[in-house]
Amino acid sequence: MIELCKLPYDYSALEPVISARAMQIHHEKHHAAYVKKANGLAAKAGLEELSVEDLVCEAKARGDTKLYNNAAQVWNHGFLWQSMTGDSLKPVGALAKAVDGRFGNLAALKAKFVEEGVGHFGSGWVWLVAQDDRLEVVSTHDAADFLDRPGVMPLLVCDVWEHAYYLDHQNDREGFLKSWLDGLANWQFASVQFEAAQSGEPGYAYPHLAHAHA
Ligand code: FE
Repeated sequence: MIELCKLPYDYSALEPVISARAMQIHHEKHHAAYVKKANGLAAKAGLEELSVEDLVCEAKARGDTKLYNNAAQVWNHGFLWQSMTGDSLKPVGALAKAVDGRFGNLAALKAKFVEEGVGHFGSGWVWLVAQDDRLEVVSTHDAADFLDRPGVMPLLVCDVWEHAYYLDHQNDREGFLKSWLDGLANWQFASVQFEAAQSGEPGYAYPHLAHAHA
């Protein structure tokens, strides 16, 4: 059984970029619905004992699209909650150097992230990932993530499904992305993820999320 993870902050912690009402609906309605559906489908498939990470990979391997979509959305939202903070600072340590090396500076990375999100057609996710120590900004459609690609380490994600921003920003995805990057992006979390990726230890991929699914 997968459980709905708790948020690492109050619903109002991300205001004014994301209102408490929007956060509550996102967590208690959208995220919770994915958890409920994933559990129902996992039980039917005899996979109810798996962790959410293993469930995503097993569903992908079996070609079970419904289970994959719901389980991946459970994981993606857990990662999203960690990717945001009301106390956003700047990248530190190795990540700060990598950002400057790859994009020139943080402003250029943000511009690339916004461009990727605005250019992404339909629902999905915009990610900062590390692949072989190289930073990339990429988007994925619908529920797709990188759990089945161990060489790709997600550092940060922003939800660009309309349910993530429509209540507060209506159709202004660009404005949402800009204010999200300037006000909410959890660079401290991304920095820790990046250093874990660089350690190259087996199983490094998601150590910081254990508490998110406790
Ligand atoms: Fe969402």
